[in-house]
Amino acid sequence: MTRRRQIYEGKAKILYEGPEPGTIIQYFKDDATAFNAEKKGTINGKGVINNRISEHVFTRLSHIGIPTHFIRRLNMREQLVRQVEIIPIEVIVRNVAAGSICKRLGLEEGEPLPHTLIEYCFKDDALGDPLVSEEHIACFNWASLEEMQDMSSMAIRINDFMCGMFAAIDIRLVDFKLEFGRLFDGDFSRVILADEISPDGCRLWDMKSGEKLDKDRFRRDLGGEEDAYREVARRLGLMQEEDNGPGEVLDLSSHRSRLRGMPPKK
Ligand code: UDP
Repeated sequence: MTRRRQIYEGKAKILYEGPEPGTIIQYFKDDATAFNAEKKGTINGKGVINNRISEHVFTRLSHIGIPTHFIRRLNMREQLVRQVEIIPIEVIVRNVAAGSICKRLGLEEGEPLPHTLIEYCFKDDALGDPLVSEEHIACFNWASLEEMQDMSSMAIRINDFMCGMFAAIDIRLVDFKLEFGRLFDGDFSRVILADEISPDGCRLWDMKSGEKLDKDRFRRDLGGEEDAYREVARRLGLMQEEDNGPGEVLDLSSHRSRLRGMPPKK
C-alpha cells in the first residue's frame, strides 16, 4: 500500500490528501492541548469519539440546510471531507458566560448572557488567536462582508439547532467554536462549515448537575475527560450499550469534588 501524503498536522487532527481531487481525509488524534498549546496531553479514545460526534452533528446540520465539508466517515478515526480554504477566523458562539469572556469582562461563570453573543478570533497560534472585530476582519480582508454575513447567520442557525439537540439529552450548550472554509467552483466560492464540532471545541454542561462534559475537564485538571466525552456520545445515541455496560449510566461523581465554581444544580 502506498503511503498517503500528509498535508498538515494540527493539534488534534492530521489532514491527508483524499482519494479524489478536492477531497481531504481528516484523521482525529487523541492529543489534547490547552492554553495555546502550553498544556499538552492525551485523552484516550478522544479521536474515535470526536470523529463520531462530529459526523453526527455535521450530518444533522446538513439536514437543516447548513452546507458542510463532511462527505462520509471512513473508519474509527478518519472522515472524508471536501477540501476548502479555511477562513482564518474562529467564530465563537456564547449562550452562557464561561472561559475567556469571564476573565475579559469580569463575568461570573454560569451567568446566562442577555442574548447569544458571537465573537471572532483571528486564527494565529503565535498571537494566541486574538479577539478581533468585524472592522478588523474587513480592514485586513480576512473575509468579505458577504462571507461575514454567511458565517454569522449560519452560526446562529447552528446554535439554535445545537441548543435543542443538546437540551434534548439534558446538556446545556454553553459556548462553542466554529470554523468555515471557502469551497471553490471556478472563479466563485461559497462559505461552508468546516473543521469539527466535538467536546474539544464546545462547553457542554450537564443540565442537572452542572458537570462539565467537555475539554474543560482537561484544561482544569478535573479528571474524567475520557468518561465525559463518552457520556456525550452515549447520550447522543452513538455508543453501543455494551460500550458502557448494559444500561449503565456513567457516574462522574468521583471527579465532582474537584469541580470548582460550579455548585451542582438542584
Ligand atoms: N475554543 C476552541 N478553540 C480555541 C478557542 C476556543 O475550540 O482555540 C472553544 C472553547 O472550547 C469554548 C469556546 O470556544 O467552547 C470559547 O472559548 P473561550 O474563548 O472561552 O476560550 P478558552 O477559555 O477556551 O481559552
